[in-house]
Amino acid sequence: MDILPYSDEHKIFRGVIRKFFEKEVIPHVEEWEEAGIVPREAWLKMGEQGYLCPQVPEEYGGLGVDFLYSVIVAEELARTNHAGLAAPLHSDVVVPYLVAFGSEEVKRTYLPKCVTGECITAIGMTEPNTGSDLAAIKTSVVEDGDELVINGQKTFISNGINCDLIVLAARDPAVEDPHSGIDLVAVPATAEGFVKGKRLKKVGWHSQDTAELFFEDCRVPKNHRLGSKGAGFMMMMQKLAQERLMCAIGAVAAAEVMLEMTIEYCKERKAFGRPISKFQNTQFKIVEMATEVKLGRTFLDKLIAEHMEGTNIVVEVSMAKYWTTEMARRVADECVQLHGGYGYCEEYPIARAWRDVRVMSIFAGTNEIMKGIAAKFMGL
Ligand SMILES: Cc1cc2nc3c(=O)[nH]c(=O)nc-3n(C[C@H](O)[C@H](O)[C@H](O)COP(=O)(O)OP(=O)(O)OC[C@H]3O[C@@H](n4cnc5c(N)ncnc54)[C@H](O)[C@@H]3O)c2cc1C
Repeated sequence: MDILPYSDEHKIFRGVIRKFFEKEVIPHVEEWEEAGIVPREAWLKMGEQGYLCPQVPEEYGGLGVDFLYSVIVAEELARTNHAGLAAPLHSDVVVPYLVAFGSEEVKRTYLPKCVTGECITAIGMTEPNTGSDLAAIKTSVVEDGDELVINGQKTFISNGINCDLIVLAARDPAVEDPHSGIDLVAVPATAEGFVKGKRLKKVGWHSQDTAELFFEDCRVPKNHRLGSKGAGFMMMMQKLAQERLMCAIGAVAAAEVMLEMTIEYCKERKAFGRPISKFQNTQFKIVEMATEVKLGRTFLDKLIAEHMEGTNIVVEVSMAKYWTTEMARRVADECVQLHGGYGYCEEYPIARAWRDVRVMSIFAGTNEIMKGIAAKFMGL
């Protein structure tokens, strides 16, 4: 029995997008990994097909469909075994801030282009001196007539080079309380004083253009503030649950894909005159991994269903984010082991999957922060 209510339309959508990725993404992954960035045309192709921001309301150019379409896009993207085309970050993490808190002008200006892929988005919370402690950010935002003036630096920003619009967390230096002084501002890449820095060289996620960004007397119209003044921290707390859920979706899907590719390999690779899948150790390892993956899938699907019903999942999503990402790391490691020396070679997809999965425990709130949140809400 499926936990999630996938309709025939959802299933058809999954089949179609899988074919699209097989044709338009997988053949280009090596080239994108080498280049350290995904070309804008790929984003535009996604937009053309309606694969970006499927939940954006129709009046702003979207399809206005349910969250399961986003789940399908994220899961099918995981099958492409690369992280560069960060559509879930754009569609399900950043754009929801614009939909929920953007002024009418912001929505009308940017949302239709977010749907077509003409406007790629990013989210800027982390700074060189603060990541986990979000309330300690230093980037400042002050009002000057009809404008907001921003100064500061962000780092580790996914889609940092490609982005046309960033949802930026910044603080009013005049407000002492660390939480109530934070604003979220939609900053277009064309804004005066918005400077893109270097693309970071990372251990994995090679095709993702993670970058440093600088704001030097950067000016945007006042109506580019999202929500009300000082409500930034509250808005982030509200939306971070979905970001963490997307992370868990990516982790479980990645684990499923790694297991699939490893089972296939173990059935083909022979040692001592028989497929390595016939060794009891291989069988036990695969069964252990399959059990963990199924546990993750069951927990995750239940959470997705609850999230869609509007249930508060803050504790469970913190647990899911930490547990599924660590499970994916365990699976990645065992899968490399079962590939032997080939698991350590670039031409075998498990090698990329292994190094790409590592960062999932670090971003979207580290796993230690996830446990801290769960502990707090459990009254510990
Ligand atoms: C590939 C990649 C993409 C990213 N994309 C984005 C993005 O798009 N936008 C964005 O804003 N950020 C992004 N980040 C940043 C990411 O969210 C941060 O790296 C993360 O939040 C951790 O912050 P930090 O690196 O400053 O580590 P720190 O906060 O310095 O943490 C270092 C260690 O201390 C631990 N620690 C810190 N505080 C506590 C505590 N209270 N209790 C227990 N342990 C603690 C942490 O868990 C961690 O193990 C990205 C990072 C990477 C690597």
